[in-house]
Amino acid sequence: MSPRPARMPRPARWFFRSIGPASVVAVGWLLAQGRFRGVADPRWDEVAAAAGLVAGMCVAGVRRAMRAPSSARPKVRDDLELGAPLVAAAYMVVGLAGPGVHPLVYVVMAGLVGFFGAVPAALLLALAMGFEALLTLRSGWIPFATHAAFLALFAAIYRIVLNARLALARHTEQEAVKARIKEVEERARTYRLATAGSSEPAPDSGSQWMLAAVKQVEGAVGSVLEIGELGLRTHTCAAFLLAPDDRTLVLHDCRSASEQVQRGAVHAGEGILAGVLKRSVPVRMVSPSGLRGVTWYDSGPAPRSVCAVPLVEAGGQLRGVLVADRMEAEPFEDRDETLLRTLAGEVLRAIEVERVLVEIRRARDEKIRFIKAIEDLNRAANLDAVFGAVLDGARQLAGLDFAAITLVSEHDGNREHRVARMSGTSPAGKTLEGRVFADNNGLVANVVRYGTPLPGRDLRSMDRQVVFDDDTRVRGLGALKILPVAAGDRILGTLVAGARRRASLDEDALRMLEVIALQAGQAVLRAQLFDQTERLATTDGLTGLLNHRAFQARADEALAQARRYGRACAVMLTDVDHFKSVNDTYGHPVGDLVLKEVAQILREKARDTDLVARYGGEEFALIMPETDGKGALVIAERIREAVGAKVFQTDVGPLQVTISIGIAAVPANGSAKQELIDLADQCLYFAKRNGRNRSVLPPLMESARRSA
Ligand code: GH3
Ligand code: MG
Ligand code: MG
Repeated sequence: MSPRPARMPRPARWFFRSIGPASVVAVGWLLAQGRFRGVADPRWDEVAAAAGLVAGMCVAGVRRAMRAPSSARPKVRDDLELGAPLVAAAYMVVGLAGPGVHPLVYVVMAGLVGFFGAVPAALLLALAMGFEALLTLRSGWIPFATHAAFLALFAAIYRIVLNARLALARHTEQEAVKARIKEVEERARTYRLATAGSSEPAPDSGSQWMLAAVKQVEGAVGSVLEIGELGLRTHTCAAFLLAPDDRTLVLHDCRSASEQVQRGAVHAGEGILAGVLKRSVPVRMVSPSGLRGVTWYDSGPAPRSVCAVPLVEAGGQLRGVLVADRMEAEPFEDRDETLLRTLAGEVLRAIEVERVLVEIRRARDEKIRFIKAIEDLNRAANLDAVFGAVLDGARQLAGLDFAAITLVSEHDGNREHRVARMSGTSPAGKTLEGRVFADNNGLVANVVRYGTPLPGRDLRSMDRQVVFDDDTRVRGLGALKILPVAAGDRILGTLVAGARRRASLDEDALRMLEVIALQAGQAVLRAQLFDQTERLATTDGLTGLLNHRAFQARADEALAQARRYGRACAVMLTDVDHFKSVNDTYGHPVGDLVLKEVAQILREKARDTDLVARYGGEEFALIMPETDGKGALVIAERIREAVGAKVFQTDVGPLQVTISIGIAAVPANGSAKQELIDLADQCLYFAKRNGRNRSVLPPLMESARRSA
């Protein structure tokens, strides 16, 4: 409890407190005498009255400030003590400075109405009316009535606006509460989904359970407080719980005859409640003049009798205080305290149930997230989506700061690891995505080697551990686990999970990560197979170029694009010259080798944006976006010369081939795909008939035809 400030002797107190009222009366008297004549030459009695008003306001202000810590609301008398000198001062200013500043009175009145309660505000309004009468009644009824009406109007309007704003705020708060309830109900419905394990809505009974349970807990505390209120005949019976910081108490629920029970935070280190918390024993107090140290009211008179018991859990953990108070000075007796202690036990039990419910809710939330992660994984069709789903799921479920997927591949019997995707802050200080490293003795390589999660137990010093390779040291992780990503017996790679907090990767998190890694294996394999099938369906087996079908589809896309944006796009057809004789002379396998090499030259000489396809037999086709006939011809010549220069060594001696090329382009030579292909084919035929080993554009062919 806060100590009482040292009090001054009674006569001195009386003297100081009477300065304000006396000055107010003096101002009234001066007004009645019509003694204010202007600021230029003030008289001694005017100066004395002004000084008295200022002193009176100071005394009232100091008294208020000293009262503030014990949150008891100032009494009407206190409000008047401050408000009356203010009103008098306003009239004194008007008296001195003339009627020009009269609106000051309305402003002061509006301020007082907004600041004080209804009763002191009404009394101050009456005082202002009195001053008004003294000031203006001498000039007749009309000016007085006008001023008085304005005064009342200002006060009323201000009060109404204030009340309306309060009502609005209350309404907004209620709406927010309703929205919150709706949200809780919605959640409860989701929990039922978690048990059903599907996204189908289950029967409604499940959704009600959670809500009903929460309400039951609240009801239990409510009944306890009601019993307290009735059984102990209290003014207020309230349960305050300690906030997590242990410094404030927050009202959990209360039964009270007063509207003023503190809804906000109450300081846990002040007043009676602080005493109960500190010693952790029940406290009973009585004071006929009203108890000090009562901090659980916003305002209003202090209770005269209080009994408060601490809420202490079985383990000794302090949770809050159960308070009962009375307005009468009727002390709480031993049996009252016993009842309150029993009720405190009930409150604790209800809170414990609530905690269990929160735990259940958390577990359900986790389940939903888990199911969603697995569903996302199963839905992922390509590798990109699989990586995204695995890493998102893993990070969310296990609260990871870092996660990565590595894939293993074999090249000529050598194992190689690649970080396919990374998520979160890289503990290596640089992005790991795309990093390729050879098989080594790091953790990732060993997980792939042995197919078991590593490290087996907590690492003492993470920083010295090789996770990926020697060049990428991992730092700043408190917990790390690398799990194999496998499909059947085949290890495809690893899931690397890291967290800054040591405690992050607990048993639950690891179990979920294991399931995710397991699902990831299946999903990666499926996506790889899908990619492979798609690749097989679109590529040519001998050369690895696009096949005819894929060429047709991609040509459609490229030409449509060119037409839409008014860009050029060239089509090129090539055919190996006298290829039949290559087969005949050197054999079919040599022919195949030649085709492979020609394909390789085409791939090298074409640009990244060009599409290269095996059109059929020994014919190849290119689609060249953003390229007109002339541009295509430059590249065609480069290709033709490169093929012609290539020497193939065979059993029967060296071999060289040439190719002929036909070109057509949008928009110069047409717009439809087939039209262009036909034209390019005609150019190719023209090249064949005119000596082969050449590239032909439509204008060349046409001018030759015209001259023929
Ligand atoms: P031209 O200069 O007029 O084109 O004469 P050419 O002998 O090349 O005649 P054509 O284009 O009609 O001949 C195509 C030959 O290519 C026929 C076929 O035996 C051969 N061929 C087609 N596909 C393959 C293949 O996959 N491998 C091999 N080795 N030969 C193929
Ligand atoms: Mg041919
Ligand atoms: Mg040919």
